[in-house]
Amino acid sequence: MISPLLALNDGHRMPQLGFGLWQVPGPVTADVTATALRLGYRLIDGAAAYRNEEGQGAGLRDSTLPRDQIFVTTKIWNSDQGFDATLRAAEASLARLGLDHVDLLLIHWPCPSRDLYPDTWHALIRLREEGRARSIGVSNFNEGHLQRIIGETGVVPVVNQIEINPRLQQPALRAFHAAHGIVTQSWTPLGQGRSFDAPPVLAAAARTGRSPAQIILRWHIQIGAAVIPRSTREAGLRENLNLFDFSLTDAEMAAIATLDEASRCGPDPAVFEMQ
Ligand code: NDP
Repeated sequence: MISPLLALNDGHRMPQLGFGLWQVPGPVTADVTATALRLGYRLIDGAAAYRNEEGQGAGLRDSTLPRDQIFVTTKIWNSDQGFDATLRAAEASLARLGLDHVDLLLIHWPCPSRDLYPDTWHALIRLREEGRARSIGVSNFNEGHLQRIIGETGVVPVVNQIEINPRLQQPALRAFHAAHGIVTQSWTPLGQGRSFDAPPVLAAAARTGRSPAQIILRWHIQIGAAVIPRSTREAGLRENLNLFDFSLTDAEMAAIATLDEASRCGPDPAVFEMQ
């Protein structure tokens, strides 16, 4: 089943559901990407740091789908921040992908102590003007980082890709996104399985006959977030795609909301600086 499309603040549209490539081994990335596209995924979330952009590109070329029906994301890694370095890194990503443009280019992390993310954002604006990225956004930015780049450039990111799962719901940042027309895109959406046995998830699974993973992914869809689960199993890819023929009730959504404990699986963007 094909995902609904979300409107971006630059006039383009993006599939609400996609597929993520973090930790997908290079040699299987082409196969997994091609399988995902065959099953019905239309958004593939990659990054230079995942070291599998060649496979991502090969999987895209294996597909018979027209290029304009596939939404390709990649990200600028921390060590490539800064204006000129970002321009070079984007060209290197495009070469590895074998594409003349990506649909979405993100700054992977803000790395605030290096203070290069505003210059990096200026480079993304240039890349958009040059047609190398159709849309531009950020990842792991907090409200202060967003306010700074918006204040300095007047250009609002289309997306902020952040960690969201039932134990880390980030309501304040999501409200900021909503107020500024930024789409929230959830990474590690399944939260390392730590809510699979939570009573509200199990109750919704029992009522709908769906798996805990499907309940959690449907919760992302119903909070209005875009979501990019990863599975290297074809059965997992299929399962994670089947989210659009059932829905959670208001009571089920409210029960899952109570699971928030502001606890991360991944690093804290305020201090994460890995190069
Ligand atoms: P996910 O939350 O998507 O979980 C992936 C794990 O869950 C895998 O171990 C997978 O195993 C398992 N899984 C997948 N589907 C199911 C299912 N239906 N039932 C049970 N288990 C399942 O984690 P990720 O951390 O990969 O996040 C998703 C994507 O988000 C990444 O691939 C990446 O694209 C992006 N990301 C972005 C970050 C950023 O900083 N911007 C940081 C981290 C991730 P199996 O393969 O065996 O199915």
